Amino acid sequence: MGWRPFGRQDRKYDELLVKTARETVGPNIELMVDAGGSEQFWPHGLNWARETAKMLANYDITWFEEALPPDDIEGFIELTKQSPVPIATGEVLTRRQSFLPWIERRAVDIIQPDCTKNGGLSESRKIAWCAFDHNVLMVPHGWNTAIGVAADLQLAAAQPVARYVEYLTPCDYIEDLTTEPFEIDAEGFLKIPQKPGLGVELDHDKLKKYRVT
Ligand SMILES: [Mg+2]
Repeated sequence: MGWRPFGRQDRKYDELLVKTARETVGPNIELMVDAGGSEQFWPHGLNWARETAKMLANYDITWFEEALPPDDIEGFIELTKQSPVPIATGEVLTRRQSFLPWIERRAVDIIQPDCTKNGGLSESRKIAWCAFDHNVLMVPHGWNTAIGVAADLQLAAAQPVARYVEYLTPCDYIEDLTTEPFEIDAEGFLKIPQKPGLGVELDHDKLKKYRVT
């Protein structure tokens, strides 16, 4: 959960949102909070992020994402040291060279490369192995298309430690683009396609809906 209105009113309202979500899903569902700090004019700095992380720990939040603007590496290093919940970011970074300082300086607990922005699967693989070597968890950022999700699944499956792939729903670009759409099972798992390549095929009839003429 996250982005607006989280982080946009006041601390009490943020806590109400998280408390409501936790009470709704119960104690045994993993819940992550994405502040959306890569949105333009993000108003918060380290103090807000640190205090919010303490609040999130009271609701057993699995990770706290983009709590700061995406280029505030010094802020993230401090936050990762101090936060009682794991800290995540990286979805807007491009090229492996941009990821290296975040991983090597331990600015995050979880790094989130987006294979449709960072240079592709080969680049993602290098980032993921670097993260593994530094004991940082890699969770691919899947908020793009069915092709991106298919690539994320193959990437995650090829890593020694893979716990999550982000999956956006409802979203036609993800759920209504391929011949065999992804389906989440009752426990929240996606099957990794076994066919050659990314394992998915574009449905060209469905694709016509998105054509601009
Ligand atoms: Mg995000």
